[in-house]
Amino acid sequence: MLRAHHITKKFGQLIAVNNLSFHVKKGRIFGIAGPNGAGKSTVYNLITGFYPFQGQIEFDGRDINGLPPHRIAQLGIARTFQIPQSFPSLTVEKSVSVGNRFGSLEKFDPVYIDEMLYFAGLESQRHRPTGDLNLLGKKKLMIAAALATKPKILMLDEPMAGSNTKEIKALMELIRRINVELGVTIIIIEHFMKVLTELTETLLIIETGTEICCGDPRVVTKEPRVIKSYLGEAYAEDHPS
Ligand code: ADP
Ligand code: MG
Repeated sequence: MLRAHHITKKFGQLIAVNNLSFHVKKGRIFGIAGPNGAGKSTVYNLITGFYPFQGQIEFDGRDINGLPPHRIAQLGIARTFQIPQSFPSLTVEKSVSVGNRFGSLEKFDPVYIDEMLYFAGLESQRHRPTGDLNLLGKKKLMIAAALATKPKILMLDEPMAGSNTKEIKALMELIRRINVELGVTIIIIEHFMKVLTELTETLLIIETGTEICCGDPRVVTKEPRVIKSYLGEAYAEDHPS
């Protein structure tokens, strides 16, 4: 469904993404992990058309490199951000409908907005300003707004960041339901290895923009190169002593 072919992004002298290739299959959950500054969020920025770059990104068989962000959104690619962003005075319902207008070529669809509010478990808060939501609520809202664009693929950027065990469980459940019930393909950048091994079928590990390893998460996370470059730190966080 989505294929990156030798994508490279330089910011001045810094090579943020270095000759990276990967393939996200339709209907699957694909994970990306790596230390801070590895280039993970930049990969999302390239896929969504925010920067020019070298290489090719194929979505549903067509090269999307060079298309503007709104065209890429209309093709069916949606994302969330590392830090939940919203207009605090806008109601939850309005925020979700902004997503619907931005991404979908079809006409404004209030029934679908309703469905997404229910799907994300936000129906009881629909008339509240988004500024009233707690962290989990803000994350659900960002996901519901992305879903309102009717994406074929949803890219999540560290959705668990700052969440406690209970919130992580709720978000994992929501992500699974998006994948299974809505049939949306998912890419997830995540720090928590446990989340990645439980959710994903394929895991790509990058460091300084370069692929370290890619494959079955249970195999990848046992690779000495991966443990050396990254997992020492992540495992310590997942398994506090
Ligand atoms: P990650 O999401 O893996 O933590 P990022 O993709 O955010 O990493 O960043 C990768 C590298 O690219 C970092 O060194 C970061 O400072 C740099 N970078 C990201 N965006 C920009 C930008 N717009 N301008 C200059 N440097 C950037
Ligand atoms: Mg990032």
